[in-house]
Amino acid sequence: MDLPELLRSQARRYRCAVCNTNMADCGIKVITQQGNRALVRVTCASCNDENLLQIIFQTDGGSIEEEQKVPTISEGIPRVPDPISSDELLDLRDLLSAHQGGFRELLDRH
Ligand SMILES: [Zn+2]
Repeated sequence: MDLPELLRSQARRYRCAVCNTNMADCGIKVITQQGNRALVRVTCASCNDENLLQIIFQTDGGSIEEEQKVPTISEGIPRVPDPISSDELLDLRDLLSAHQGGFRELLDRH
């Protein structure tokens, strides 16, 4: 069973947060997949509400057998991250213009 199939089998357990339609018929698009994580875009078939979901495959008992992987929707991604204010950008510009050395040193100093 491949990832979209697994996700489809899980989707019917969820309902759209906007229109409360069961997600069994929703659109599922895997954007990226790396290791046991995947970023998936789910589109409601009824109201076209889109959500990005980070999927983490969880394995019971530490097994990594493919057929024992059970995807669970464990965390969402905020739709609107905190915007960076122009003041913060100015501070960053000052910091960078005053900085001598490499990028590592920049990250190390707190
Ligand atoms: Zn909907």
